[in-house]
Amino acid sequence: MTGSEIVLEVKDLTVSFPTEDGLVRAVRGVSYDLRQGEVLGIVGESGSGKSVTSKAVMGLLPGSAKVGGSVRFRGQELIGAPEKELQAVRGGRIAMVFQDPMTSLNPVYPVGDQIAEAVLAHNDVSVAAARDRAVELLTMMQIPRARERARDYPHEFSGGMRQRVVIATAMANDPDVIIADEPTTALDVTVQAQVLEALETARSATNAAMVLITHDLGVVAGTADRVLVMYAGRPVELGDVDDIYYEARMPYTLGLIGSLPRLDTARRGDRLVPITGSPPSLLDLPPGCPFAPRCPLRREQCDELEPDVLATSSPDHLAACHFSAELAGRRPEDVFVATSADPETAGGRS
Ligand code: ADP
Ligand code: MG
Repeated sequence: MTGSEIVLEVKDLTVSFPTEDGLVRAVRGVSYDLRQGEVLGIVGESGSGKSVTSKAVMGLLPGSAKVGGSVRFRGQELIGAPEKELQAVRGGRIAMVFQDPMTSLNPVYPVGDQIAEAVLAHNDVSVAAARDRAVELLTMMQIPRARERARDYPHEFSGGMRQRVVIATAMANDPDVIIADEPTTALDVTVQAQVLEALETARSATNAAMVLITHDLGVVAGTADRVLVMYAGRPVELGDVDDIYYEARMPYTLGLIGSLPRLDTARRGDRLVPITGSPPSLLDLPPGCPFAPRCPLRREQCDELEPDVLATSSPDHLAACHFSAELAGRRPEDVFVATSADPETAGGRS
């Protein structure tokens, strides 16, 4: 993967929204590179700035949003680019898959026609050939009796099938990047796996890179090559998927892992160790580490200075924690359970 070309380069991205109550600092300095063919998982609790980050990449934020930093798609700067340029990028180069497939589908056209339209927009083929290709794509997306079902309208499909239609359309656009924002969140667990599989089929068939955004670290476990963990509008950890799951260097990441039911055999039978409390308001962030109020390792320094995102023992594994070195070799239950068993701090973790 490391030899492949960088298709998307996000640097120091910031987004804030002026509101009646003050400035909401939704994204506070996100940076990542995305290479051709790779899958980057972006994980964090609701409200951590994941969707705003990807909307900024796509130029889909409301006009009131104040955006800073840089987003380069194959070298082309997208922040501040004219709407016409952004439309061209959105039209095919970067495809989005949202949580609700109905935001992408037109309710008054049969699903096959919608996919065929995308095929026609990107290929010099006849309408009949585009329809055939649409059926082929639906078949690849595991839609049974695809030729027949292509004539159905979106409302005649289940949620999981609709999402697979959206993914088929993305595939027809032959994108360089697929950004999937909580693509499985509205679906049953069994259907989630099918949709993740469909995404992987689309990604590998187009050799696109993918950003997979989810609040559920379990969703990216089997899918992502690298994971970016976000908290309060910032990246707090970035690394290869194995670094994140087995060598986490930020207590928040460890907490997310501890909240996962039976991620792997090592944790089988272990109790869940959920993170208590909730993320801070992005209106008036106090100084210091935004995770400190929920962190079992909190010390004075944590309330004074927000930690930078720095390399850990490996240059490709970054973490934002003053005490990240202390986390080497520690598992979620060492940090979260051990602390709650301590009478001095147990009161704060009811
Ligand atoms: P996530 O996708 O991680 O759940 P979001 O990126 O949607 O979180 O939101 C990050 C923060 O930005 C939240 O606090 C949200 O309320 C705020 N936010 C998002 N859109 C707007 C907006 N248009 N105006 C004001 N605040 C917004
Ligand atoms: Mg979101």
